[in-house]
Amino acid sequence: MTDCPLYLDANATEPLRPQARAALLEVLQRVGNPSSVHQAGRQARRVLEQAREAIAGLFGAPPAGVVFTSGGTEANALAIRGLAAGRRVLVGASEHAAVREAAPGASASIPVLPDGQVDLEALSALLIEGGPALVALMAANNETGVLHPVAEVAALCRAHGALLHVDAVQAAGRVPVSLAGWGADSLAVSGHKLGGAPGAGALLLRPGLDLTPLIHGGGQERGRRGGTEALPAIAAMAAAAEAACAAPASPALRDRLESLVRDASPEVQAVGAEAPRLPNTSCLLVPFARAETLVIALDLMGVQVSAGAACSSGKVAESQVLRAMGLGELAGHGLRVSLPWNALPDVPERFAQAWAAMQARLSRRAA
Ligand code: PLP
Repeated sequence: MTDCPLYLDANATEPLRPQARAALLEVLQRVGNPSSVHQAGRQARRVLEQAREAIAGLFGAPPAGVVFTSGGTEANALAIRGLAAGRRVLVGASEHAAVREAAPGASASIPVLPDGQVDLEALSALLIEGGPALVALMAANNETGVLHPVAEVAALCRAHGALLHVDAVQAAGRVPVSLAGWGADSLAVSGHKLGGAPGAGALLLRPGLDLTPLIHGGGQERGRRGGTEALPAIAAMAAAAEAACAAPASPALRDRLESLVRDASPEVQAVGAEAPRLPNTSCLLVPFARAETLVIALDLMGVQVSAGAACSSGKVAESQVLRAMGLGELAGHGLRVSLPWNALPDVPERFAQAWAAMQARLSRRAA
């Protein structure tokens, strides 16, 4: 058991980074709307444009291509709704609900392989099948951490005249992410997943790409997203992104944690371990208990993790991601451990202690 709780749910939200806290507090203390023409407004505009340049530079887009939004969900919705006109929408089978639910009803699903990566042959066939398409694919999966070969997908899309939107919400700040480097058309990031404050995200567009806005209003964000920009959260996102990209995570703690779990429970496997993965994420497939049971038992031991997919109600749904990977009934047995940027070196050992206590508790209950 652990004295103070061990927070291992970074893919739900990262702890606030000190650089982001400083930026947030600084901007909160000021007054000024970036659209106002007086001095306070012009100062706010400067903060906004500095954040835009930072996000653009870090993730490979021109500053004019950065549209600030309220978060990752809105950035994905703006891309998919705003670029879909006259196109078939093809959505990865393991996408986050933010992408799945934004796609129009007639969209098709791109299958994933058993290791979680996109099935490139199936994508090729879908691209050949019909007219112009918009492909929406995540860079890194939120449940398993599996990385898709985005540059290859982008090349395939270009060859077939399709647009590619990349949901980089989980990848940004953890592995290299670049709109231009990948050759994609648009890319979504989210402030709180980078260690910023909730309330800000961004959609990055390649030069020359135009879209239909979702929210009309006072012409903010070059008419692409109406509404006064959430300046404190935007400044915090930029500061968090700079800090995250300057110190990318290593997989050492994740790998040690997986090895200690395997020592204690050889039947447990890490999902997608054969594919490249985010360095902070482990999806443990636990045959002897359902994910919701494990989450509650570990919470009682002071360890905060999550089951594959949590609804806003806090209920645990069976993981569509694990189903798409062909795991069948085991799709309800995936436990997501996602290490935050500030994880300490003793996390694997503390997790292993809690794991042993959890196993003992479950065996007592079963006896
Ligand atoms: N895309 C992915 C892959 C995510 O994991 C999430 C959140 O978990 C989102 C999009 C939505 O981001 P936000 O919480 O900023 O709306």
